[in-house]
Amino acid sequence: MAGRRPRVVVVGGGFGGLAVARELRGVPVDVLLVDQDNYHLFQPLLYQVATAGLEPADIAYALRGILRRIPNAHFFMAEVVGVDWDASCLLTAAGEKIPFDHLVLAAGATTATFGVPGAAEHAFALKDLRHAVALRSHLLEQFERCAAHPELIDEGLLTVVIVGGGPTGVEMAGALRELFTKVLAKDFPALEVWRARVMLVEMADSVLTAFHRSLQRDAARALKVRRVELRLGTSVSRVTPERVELSDGSHIPARTVLWAAGVRANSLADRLDVPQGRGGRIVVGPDLSVPGRPQIWVVGDLGAAKDVEGQLLPQLAPVAMQGGRHVARSIRRRLEGRPTERFRYVDKGIMATIGRRAAVAQLSFGLCLTGSLAWLAWLFLHLVILIGFRNRLSVLLNWTWNYLTWDRAARLILGPNVRDRSAEPSAPSRSPAADRTTST
Ligand SMILES: Cc1cc2nc3c(=O)[nH]c(=O)nc-3n(C[C@H](O)[C@H](O)[C@H](O)COP(=O)(O)OP(=O)(O)OC[C@H]3O[C@@H](n4cnc5c(N)ncnc54)[C@H](O)[C@@H]3O)c2cc1C
Repeated sequence: MAGRRPRVVVVGGGFGGLAVARELRGVPVDVLLVDQDNYHLFQPLLYQVATAGLEPADIAYALRGILRRIPNAHFFMAEVVGVDWDASCLLTAAGEKIPFDHLVLAAGATTATFGVPGAAEHAFALKDLRHAVALRSHLLEQFERCAAHPELIDEGLLTVVIVGGGPTGVEMAGALRELFTKVLAKDFPALEVWRARVMLVEMADSVLTAFHRSLQRDAARALKVRRVELRLGTSVSRVTPERVELSDGSHIPARTVLWAAGVRANSLADRLDVPQGRGGRIVVGPDLSVPGRPQIWVVGDLGAAKDVEGQLLPQLAPVAMQGGRHVARSIRRRLEGRPTERFRYVDKGIMATIGRRAAVAQLSFGLCLTGSLAWLAWLFLHLVILIGFRNRLSVLLNWTWNYLTWDRAARLILGPNVRDRSAEPSAPSRSPAADRTTST
């Protein structure tokens, strides 16, 4: 069609997809961002929603609100289920066909349970807002049940098993202990809240394996101080509604299991007939386009981007954001008839927080921080990256309030669990750890 501007369709309004749309602002293309949800989610703070520290709206932002500041970008809410390569069209679950000239795939990742029996059915995942609210409600409901029937503590109603000692597992474990000891112990004065347990199960011999050894030790120490029970060098062999079975033959009665042990590319990747690498990630060339399909690009957790040494890049927000900006610039170069360039990830460091004034940070040039300094750096960085002034202000106010009062205002029981009020220790309704596109 003569005179028509090229159409760039972006699947996913997460860190990667949004970076593409923002970087294409003012470029002579029409951008259509497609997402199954109408909001951008700040996943790194999901654990604070799950532990009643923040409200869902604090860490999510309406995509239409973001895109209205980008005149050449529009939003379309749809679940993408495939691509018609011959017709260069996206296919949606509702049967729509969305034509594109350039397609950027940025649909992220889902939880991988590695076929562990019962994990997908009985463990919680923590990938989106629904998971976080379901987990928060379930946890609080266990306390309400025990308030009426304290004998249920023996059956694991106040025991949480977290599988996976990466940043998500560590952050959840620390936040849960603070919720139990500083907030719920006051809410339930007649209940023996000191008997509530948080256990962190990790296959490796330390937590936070991506961090420097000294930071791993610091994090483990901070967790133990908070009475998180560490089971290192141990894996989970089965999850049932009543208990978790471990590789050493032991079992723990537990009604709440969080699966934070694995990540897999979004199942959309399996439906596209493109080469996939480890964890189902789509194989990409150095410029992040799909080999043999120069108009198709993959950014973020969905793609198997590599660094200059050929090592797979981690599935982290900065990788997705930098990849998104790179792809937008590459599309621009293509339109200008210039060759694309290799993607070079600039690693500024990694950090994880364990709780109040306890965090670890490994910054570029080998600089390591722990304790209050790392915690302040973590707070500052998360506030800066969070989208929207209102969200930043709300999170800052909540954090200040929580810090001064040890309170967690968002401890509300919402969602389907609220209907299951039986005091019997029957299997609570759970949010499966499996891919949410198949679970909701
Ligand atoms: C609990 C948790 C904590 C984390 N903590 C950190 C951290 O501290 N630091 C860090 O750097 N990284 C962290 N990460 C990882 C980081 O969030 C991801 O690396 C990052 O979100 C990847 O960005 P993305 O754009 O690839 O995907 P996402 O941000 O996941 O966005 C994917 C988007 O695609 C949409 N989508 C998916 N499937 C479809 C479909 N079929 N059709 C339409 N739309 C679809 C989704 O709705 C979503 O909006 C954390 C992740 C989690 C889950």
